[in-house]
Amino acid sequence: MSVLEKITSKDAIALEDKHGAHNYHPLPVVLNKGEGVYVWDVEGKKYYDFLSAYSAVNQGHCHPKIVGAMIEQAQTLTLTSRAFYNDVLGEYEKYATEIFGFDKLLPMNTGAEAVETALKICRKWAYEKKGINENEAEIIVCENNFHGRTTTIISFSNDPVARKNFGPYTKGFIKIEYDNLKALEEVLKSNSNVAGFLVEPIQGEAGVYVPSEGYLKTAKQLCENYNVLFIADEVQTGIARTGKMLAVDHENVKPDILILGKALSGGAYPVSAVLANNAIMGVIQPGNHGSTFGGNPVAAKVAIAALEVVKNEDLAQNAENLGQLFRSELNKFIPKCSIVNAVRGKGLLNAILINDTEDSSTAWDICMALKENGLLAKPTHGNIIRFAPPLVMNKEQLLECVLIITKTLKQFEK
Ligand SMILES: *Cc1c(COP(=O)(O)O)cnc(C)c1O
Repeated sequence: MSVLEKITSKDAIALEDKHGAHNYHPLPVVLNKGEGVYVWDVEGKKYYDFLSAYSAVNQGHCHPKIVGAMIEQAQTLTLTSRAFYNDVLGEYEKYATEIFGFDKLLPMNTGAEAVETALKICRKWAYEKKGINENEAEIIVCENNFHGRTTTIISFSNDPVARKNFGPYTKGFIKIEYDNLKALEEVLKSNSNVAGFLVEPIQGEAGVYVPSEGYLKTAKQLCENYNVLFIADEVQTGIARTGKMLAVDHENVKPDILILGKALSGGAYPVSAVLANNAIMGVIQPGNHGSTFGGNPVAAKVAIAALEVVKNEDLAQNAENLGQLFRSELNKFIPKCSIVNAVRGKGLLNAILINDTEDSSTAWDICMALKENGLLAKPTHGNIIRFAPPLVMNKEQLLECVLIITKTLKQFEK
C-alpha cells in the first residue's frame, strides 16, 4: 500500500486481527480523526462518540489547549525520570493538590497503577500508623468492582472473564456487596485488621450502578469510626463526569485517598495520580515506590491543561445540566417502548437497561445499529449500554443524540 492510499476499515480490522492479541472485542469501526464530541472513521463517516474512551476524553477529542500544551512540552523536554527534578512536576502537583484539597500527589500513568499505588500506601499506613501486624492488613472491596487489570486487582474482581486462569491470587481483600452499609459495618466491627475500604462512587464498568443517596457519606463515617482509610477510585467518575469535579462531591465526602486517571489527561496521554494528606502519604519514602514515566514533564503539562479546560469551560455544570436533560428525555420515551427498561446515571455517566436477557446479543445489536445511525456506544455488561459523551457537548447536540438513540431503539421494538 502506498503512503497516499488510505487503509479501509476492513483491512485495518484484518491487520489487528492477524497481528494483535485478541484481548478486546471492538465494535467494527475504524477511527482516524476526532474533534470535540465527534469522531470519524477511515471512510469519512462522522459519529457522536458516546463512550469517550471510557470517560478519558471528557474534555473532547483533541482539545486544542491540551494538545497545544503537549506539543510545546514535547518539543522542550519529555522525560527525565525521577532520578532528577524537572521544572514542571512541582507546578502540576501544586495545582492539582489545590484543586482537590490534598497535601500531596503521587504521579503514575495508568488507572490500574494508581489503584496499586493506593493499595500499597494503605497497607504501609496500616502497619506503620494503625499498628496492624505485618502481612495481616485487609482491604475491603465491593462485588462487581472494576479497578483495572493487574494480577492483584483481578485477584479481588469477581468477573470470571477477568480472573479465570490468572491465579494464584493476591490475598488480603474482603469482598462485600456494593451499596450495603450493613455489610460494611459488619466487617469493620468484627475485623480489626481492616486497613481500607476501596470503592467506586458509581460502579461504571459494572453497568453504571449509582448507590443509594447517603451511601458514600455514611461509608466514610463508618471508616472514620474504625480508623480505616476510605479510598475513592474516581478514575472513571472523576474530572467532572458526573456533574461535579468528583463524584464524592455530591455527598461532600473527602476520601482519605483519592485515585484519578483517564480524563486527568483529557485522553491525550496516560496520566494518573493518587492524592492524600501528609499523615498518609508520609509513609512513602524514597525507594518505596516509583515509575519511570510517572510525573514526566509532558504528563504534568497535559494534566494542568486538562484540569484548566474542565474549570474554564465549566464542564461539571454542563455535565450536570445535560445529564438531567438526557435522562428526562429518555424517561419520556421509555414508558412508550418495550425494549428499554430504565435509564440511570449521574451527570453524563448514564446507562440504559435493555429489556432482554444478559446473555442475549440485543445490546450489541443496538450498538451496531447506533453506529449505522452515527453514534458510537458499547454494551458494558450483557444488556446494559453505557452513554458517556464528551462533556463539551452542547444542548442541541445532545437533543440530536437523543433522537438518534430513540429512533434506533424503535427499530428494535417487537
Ligand atoms: C478504567 C478504570 C481503571 C483502570 O484504568 P486503566 O488506565 O485502564 O488502567 C480503574 N478504575 C476504574 C474505576 C476505571 O474505570
